[in-house]
Amino acid sequence: EAKRIGRNTFSFFKPHMDFESKRALSLELDLRHAIEHEELSLVFQPLIDLRTGKVTGLEALTRWHHPIEGDIPSTEFIKRAEDTGLIIALGKWVLRKSAMLMTQLHLAGYPYLSLSINISHHQLERFSLITTLHDLLQEMPFLAEKLTLDISGSLPLHNTSQLIDAMKQIKGMGIGLALDDFGTGFVSLELLQKMPIDYLKVDLSFIQKLPNDHDSAVITSTAIMMAKKLGITSHAEGIVSQEQQQFLLSHHCFSGQGNFYSAPLTIDELLYTLDENTGLFTDKQVLYSDQK
Ligand code: C2E
Ligand code: MG
Ligand code: MG
Repeated sequence: EAKRIGRNTFSFFKPHMDFESKRALSLELDLRHAIEHEELSLVFQPLIDLRTGKVTGLEALTRWHHPIEGDIPSTEFIKRAEDTGLIIALGKWVLRKSAMLMTQLHLAGYPYLSLSINISHHQLERFSLITTLHDLLQEMPFLAEKLTLDISGSLPLHNTSQLIDAMKQIKGMGIGLALDDFGTGFVSLELLQKMPIDYLKVDLSFIQKLPNDHDSAVITSTAIMMAKKLGITSHAEGIVSQEQQQFLLSHHCFSGQGNFYSAPLTIDELLYTLDENTGLFTDKQVLYSDQK
């Protein structure tokens, strides 16, 4: 019946709907509006060479400041977007926007920075992702060798042979692939073996318990060793201390990110604090906006 009356009308809200489903529905309508009206923004978390402390690349992370509810956690609105199919439009926006901002950074003197973008498996299932990537690389050919797509293993993956085909096509375009949130979720070792990935991102839930939690230490060091033997580069998410960095270095994991180095930053904050010649942060104070 809601369909007959039309979208974006308040008759959508039936008296029998409970508070939660009303909120979910209004969030969906608001998210649709936010994507169409550029109300989303991007922040970038620096990816670090753990041996030198240099910034080697950036991971784009989407933020949504809702006009009434304020900042909505990305895990919440990304899940909502995945459940409703809005992730396709959101994902396209993220690709375009981050590629544009990356071009800006390259021109500003940081041509060495790589760009990681999170891709939902819903996007991977659609041929439109390949077309979008193809168009993007036509416009910005330099991007191919700088771009890595993060694919989360935290959700159940259906039709894995189709996903692997899509991954191979993306690799064929010269774009890198990372398996995100490794250790959580649904990626079997069999699937890992079949995926044409370049990076294994060990989930922050393990990294954050290093170095003292015995099980996390075993899981992390084993994941690093396995990646190495498979010819994949390991990467640690959510590093918050010197001790964690030390543990990772001693197990030959040389790439990571986390608030120990830097929280996600806006482009302006990056330009202000990152020395383009050294790739190191200067000691300029960042006044963190409440965007993060
Ligand atoms: P992710 O791809 O694993 O991104 C890393 C998350 O860890 C980010 O959370 C980042 O802020 C957080 N993080 C990094 N270092 C630390 C740390 O030291 N301490 C803590 N507490 N957190 C740290 P964020 O930005 O909230 O994003 C959560 C997830 O939402 C992402 O996890 C990703 O799966 C998803 N996501 C975010 N933006 C996008 C997007 O544009 N598209 C898609 N498909 N997913 C996105
Ligand atoms: Mg990621
Ligand atoms: Mg992750």
